[in-house]
Amino acid sequence: MIAEPVMYTRINDTHLEALRGLAGAENVTTAQAMLDLHNRDASRHPAGNAEAVIFATDAEQVSRVMAYCNEHRIPVTPWGVGTSLEGNPLARFGGISFSFERMTAIVKVHADDFQVTVQPGIGHKDLNAQLARYGLFFPPDPGANATVGGMLANNAAGIRTVKYGATKDNVLKMQVVLADGRIISVGSRSIKQSSGYDLLHLFVGSEGTLGIITEATLKLVPVPSLMSSVVASFPSVEAAVEAVVAVRGSGLDPAALEFIDARQSALLRDHNGVDLEEAPTLFMEFHAVLPEALDFGLAQVKEICEELGATRIKTTTDNAERAKLWSARHHAFELLQRLHPGQEIYIGDVAVPISAYPDLIGFAEHAIAEAGIKAFMKGHAGDGNIHCEFPFKDEAEFARASHVNDMIVQKAIELGGTATGEHGVGVGKVRHMIREHGASLDVMRQIKYTLDPNGILNPGKIFPE
Ligand SMILES: Cc1cc2nc3c(=O)[nH]c(=O)nc-3n(C[C@H](O)[C@H](O)[C@H](O)COP(=O)(O)OP(=O)(O)OC[C@H]3O[C@@H](n4cnc5c(N)ncnc54)[C@H](O)[C@@H]3O)c2cc1C
Repeated sequence: MIAEPVMYTRINDTHLEALRGLAGAENVTTAQAMLDLHNRDASRHPAGNAEAVIFATDAEQVSRVMAYCNEHRIPVTPWGVGTSLEGNPLARFGGISFSFERMTAIVKVHADDFQVTVQPGIGHKDLNAQLARYGLFFPPDPGANATVGGMLANNAAGIRTVKYGATKDNVLKMQVVLADGRIISVGSRSIKQSSGYDLLHLFVGSEGTLGIITEATLKLVPVPSLMSSVVASFPSVEAAVEAVVAVRGSGLDPAALEFIDARQSALLRDHNGVDLEEAPTLFMEFHAVLPEALDFGLAQVKEICEELGATRIKTTTDNAERAKLWSARHHAFELLQRLHPGQEIYIGDVAVPISAYPDLIGFAEHAIAEAGIKAFMKGHAGDGNIHCEFPFKDEAEFARASHVNDMIVQKAIELGGTATGEHGVGVGKVRHMIREHGASLDVMRQIKYTLDPNGILNPGKIFPE
């Protein structure tokens, strides 16, 4: 049942001519600049080897290209906008980078159903800008202006996941083109779905290895009328992390609950003008319909934070102040890059059950200190998710960071968590897959073989070779 190692075909002029006929000549390029652009994502993983870039235009075109590539054993790797952090969209074995940059339409807004049907290349920020006039928004927010297709394929999450769920929780239906060119529809527009196997969620998070998403119907929620933000500094990481568990346990339903360590706080204070202490800090956001509900929530959060020894608590309902705060949080990674010129940043991404979060953070702090390396921690604490960010300037430093990160991954798995909370497996997390999944990885391989027997869809990802 398991596929033999596959020999892939290199693209020659005959293939290119055929592909131009199938995809439209204007949608096929081998220009070096375009290849370079599609052979790097936002990670430090080795560049891809795409031999041609094809711009998707519609499901039928994608279907024709897939059928041809399947017949000729040409690898196809979907491409959203390349903001992945684990090498997910890199064409490791050559072939085609199938780009969705031109499929950015909103097909239909079903405002009365709180749904929207979109093409996969639309950026989630662009989508939300257009949905504003309906008073609705698509809540998953990975920070970067990632495409809906890339978010679905990686099951991206972000600062609002604690309230609204990850991308998987906000999709109802998709059109998918299979490796052999068949076009199928999975899921339905009904909120309740209990009909047959849940193929929708098989494709979500599959990183383009099982099929290509050409359309998606997403769930929307009303834009909250009232919002408040809270920033609380704590004397220790332990106290901050305990406050995370306490706020989650209080039933207050935060719309964001983010942790940053003292080093990150100092950077945001010194370089982004955010009024912060150099201390472990929580950023929180709350949504409400009534002002009284917002005030009541804020009072409760203050009480929890004070009880846990918060040294400073700032609350605001001012929109400009709130926007400044969250913009600084969103751009913390870019700031780190700017402050480490000539260096790269290696980003970890593990998640555990919320009760295990204090253990995980304590372990990570200790491992980083023991190794004597520089690292910054920030995370979607409300979901038990933490990113340790390690600046490094050479291979030796990278090896040390990678070793510490592997220890953190192992600990997260021991604590009942996962090697990747939201960035996906790509190539970077492949080595942890057996430890995390054991025998179920064989079942995943069987599913892959059933849907893509020639192994042409995004080869080299998810499974150890
Ligand atoms: C500064 C920064 C901050 C980030 N913060 C977060 C965060 O908070 N949370 C988070 O989850 N992620 C975060 N990310 C990672 C990244 O934004 C997400 O992984 C995102 O989902 C990638 O989307 P993309 O459009 O860039 O897709 P790409 O990187 O182009 O592709 C992602 C994967 O999707 C596949 N794919 C793309 N389109 C399709 C399609 N139509 N059909 C099938 N497969 C497809 C690709 O083959 C690849 O495997 C961050 C990245 C950066 C650079």
